[in-house]
Amino acid sequence: MSSAKVIFEGQGIGELVASGKAFVIKDNGVFVEKKKSALTQTAESARLARAITQVEENLNQAICQTSAETKEILGALQALLLDTKLQTGLKLSIEAGWSSESAVSKVFADYADLFSEMGDLKEDFLDLGRQIQAALSGSAELLIPTGDSVVIVAKNLSPLQMVKLGENVVGVILLESGPTSHTAIICRQKGIATLVGAAGLLTSMKSGDELTVDAISGKAYLGPPIAYSISETARRKIGEPLTKLRLNIGAMSDLKSLSQENIDGIGLVRTEMFFLGAIGEPDSVEQTQVYETILRLAPQGKVVFRTFDSSEDKALTFIDSKNHESLWNSSQYWEIIDQQLSCLALAQKRVGREVSVMAPMIESATQAEQFVRKAKAHGIHSAGVMVELPSLSLEIPKLEGKVDFLSIGTNDLAKYLFGLDRENFSSSNLLTPWHPELLSRVKLIVEGANSIGIEVAICGEAAADPLLGVVFAGMGIDVLSMARLSIPRAVAYLSSVTVDQAKEIARQALEQSDAEAAKAVTQESLGS
Ligand code: PEP
Ligand code: MG
Repeated sequence: MSSAKVIFEGQGIGELVASGKAFVIKDNGVFVEKKKSALTQTAESARLARAITQVEENLNQAICQTSAETKEILGALQALLLDTKLQTGLKLSIEAGWSSESAVSKVFADYADLFSEMGDLKEDFLDLGRQIQAALSGSAELLIPTGDSVVIVAKNLSPLQMVKLGENVVGVILLESGPTSHTAIICRQKGIATLVGAAGLLTSMKSGDELTVDAISGKAYLGPPIAYSISETARRKIGEPLTKLRLNIGAMSDLKSLSQENIDGIGLVRTEMFFLGAIGEPDSVEQTQVYETILRLAPQGKVVFRTFDSSEDKALTFIDSKNHESLWNSSQYWEIIDQQLSCLALAQKRVGREVSVMAPMIESATQAEQFVRKAKAHGIHSAGVMVELPSLSLEIPKLEGKVDFLSIGTNDLAKYLFGLDRENFSSSNLLTPWHPELLSRVKLIVEGANSIGIEVAICGEAAADPLLGVVFAGMGIDVLSMARLSIPRAVAYLSSVTVDQAKEIARQALEQSDAEAAKAVTQESLGS
C-alpha cells in the first residue's frame, strides 16, 4: 500500500476492492462536459424529445397539485420550455452534432441571459435545463463509457441514476452522500466498491486514469489494486448463524446467482425501487408482473414486500412525499396502497406462494392495525410494519395480537431520533448505528416484540455490519436482512459465538457511553 498514491478517503460501503478507468462527473450528477453525440441525428433528437416530454409531464403534474400562485410560475416555465426559439436553438445544436446534454447546457445558458434582470425567473429557467439533463441521465443513456471497467467520481448520484448504471461500473466515489443514503444502499446491493463523503484531490486525477477503490480501508488510489491479506471471512470457521438471514432487494439483479445456503427468503423488497422514474402510478398489470417475478425467483423462506415508500431522494412521481412522515395521513396514499395490495394478493394467488407485506413510516399502533387489517382484507398471508419512526418504537406492547411481525428500519430510526439527513455525510457520526441511543432503542423494540411473541427483524443497513449483527443477536433479534454480498461475513460472525457469548457482547456494547467505545469493545470480544 505504501507506494500507492491515495487520492480520496471516505467511508467505505460494501467491503470490496475494485479498479477501473475513472469517469469524473461534475456539477451534481449532471453531465456538463461538452461532448459530441455518438448517436445518429435522428436518435439524438428523439432522445432529447423524450427528456423534454418527461419534464413537461412532471410540470403538468406539479401544476395540478399546486397553489394558484405557483401554478402561474410553472405555467410560464412550461411555455418557455416549448418556446419556438428555444426549440430551434436545441435543434440546431443537435444538427451540429452535439449531444443532448451539451445542447441543453449551451442553449439554456444563452437563453437565460435574456432574463438577467429577473433573478428568480433566470434561476428557475436554468433549473429547467438541469431537469432535462437529469431526465437524460436517468433514461439509461448515460454517457458513461461502456466496455472497460469504470470508477465513477461524482459529487453525488441519485438512486435513479444508480439503478440505471451498467455492469461495467465497478466503483463509485461520492464527495457527498452518507452511509445510509439510498444511493449507498444501491451500491452495496449491486456489489460496487464505494466511498461516500470522500474528501480528496480531484485535481490530481482526470477521467481515464486507472483508479482503485478500496472500500475496506475507505481509500482510493491511482493505479491497480495492491495485494491485501486473506479476508476475515475466509479465516473464520463457518457454521449455523445465530439468527435467520434474509435478503434486501431493490432490483431483479439482486436475485441473480444466489447460493441458497443460509438465506431464509427476502426480508425487504423495496418495491418503490422497481418503479423509480415512472411518470404515473404503475398500472396493475405491470405491478403484478413485477411481484410475480420476484416471488418466483426468491430463495426459499418468507418473502416480505414493503409497500411503496417515498422520500426526498427516491421520490415517486405519483406520490406526494413532501411530508415523508405523514404518508399515511394522505387518502391518495391509501388508495395507491390499496391497489398495490391487490396486485400483491394476485401475485400470491398466481404463484401459489405466501406473501408477507409490511408498511413503512408507521407512526402509531393504531395506524399499524389499520394497515394490517387492510392487507388481510386483500387476502395477504401475513402483515407487519416497519419500526422506523421513534413514536412507534414506544408503542410496541400495544401491537399485541394486531400485527404478525416487525422489521426495524435503523436507517430512518437514526435519522428521526437525531433529526439528521441521510444524504449528508457530516451527519454520519450521529447516524451511526453504534450510537448508544440507537442501540438501546433497538433493544427496547426487540424486548417489546419478544414479550408479545412476534417475530422481529432488522432490515436497515446496520444489519449488514457483522459485528453489530452479533450485538443484535445478543439482544434477541430473530432475523437480520441485508444485501446478498453481506451474507457471507454475517454467517461467519454469527456462527462464531454462542447465544450466551452474544448476550454478553450485547450487554457490554450497551454499557458504553459512545459509538466508538461500543464498537471497540465488540471488536475486542470478536477478535477482529
Ligand atoms: C430503513 O429506514 O432502515 C429502511 C430499511 O428503509 P429505507 O432505507 O428504504 O428507508
Ligand atoms: Mg426507511
